[in-house]
Amino acid sequence: MRKKLAAGNWKMNGTLGSMIEIDALMEKHPDPKCDVLICPPATLVAAMAATIGDGAIKTGGQDCHAQTSGAHTGDISAQMLADAGASYVIVGHSERRQDHNESDSDIRHKAESAISAGLVTVVCCGETDAEREANSTLEIISGQLAASIPDTATGENLVVAYEPIWAIGTGKVPTLEQIGEVHDFIRAKLEKRFGQDVGCCVRLLYGGSVKPSNADEIFAVSNVDGALVGGASLKAADFSGIITALENS
Ligand code: PEP
Repeated sequence: MRKKLAAGNWKMNGTLGSMIEIDALMEKHPDPKCDVLICPPATLVAAMAATIGDGAIKTGGQDCHAQTSGAHTGDISAQMLADAGASYVIVGHSERRQDHNESDSDIRHKAESAISAGLVTVVCCGETDAEREANSTLEIISGQLAASIPDTATGENLVVAYEPIWAIGTGKVPTLEQIGEVHDFIRAKLEKRFGQDVGCCVRLLYGGSVKPSNADEIFAVSNVDGALVGGASLKAADFSGIITALENS
């Protein structure tokens, strides 16, 4: 059985004062029935891990460099994230792909490095509005999966997040049929490449304008094992509603 995962991506939001949201989340969900992950900005990873202590919420990074160390000003390695207390890292978010020109090959190298560092790696994929309109969604997803996921992936160290770019931060959400079609497709691709034993265990998250009000119906879709949440993860009150929906799904 795949353990459901509610993952929050704080993006470039939050300061030390934001730890009150983590305290509130822990108070509301001291023993969640699903995995709960928050990926704060890198500046807060150590503080968040310290705030959580032995608590059930996991801490993650939002990106990592493909190398362990070296002359890469401003970058952070997967080992550094692990050292700061992270147990997960997101790679290949569409904002990284767009803002930093990250290619599938870059993402694969980052994911390899993250897996080597012992981090559970959330690899993101998703189509643009134009690609959806051109009926090329599955082709785009297929290419991203093939080129971004390393051969070292397993059911334990890999999570895939399907995030249609046009749904991120826009309030637009695909139909439940569209989400189900892509998630079933991703599952089939993973089982084909890694074998059924591995492919069946990788958790698949949906991301893009998930809110407490639409979480129930999204979590009922086939092969949706949780969500990657941006805006609605910033406030404990909102994210808590999504966690509760996932626990009850
Ligand atoms: C995201 O950035 O991964 C995301 C899904 O954002 P939002 O929930 O705000 O659409």
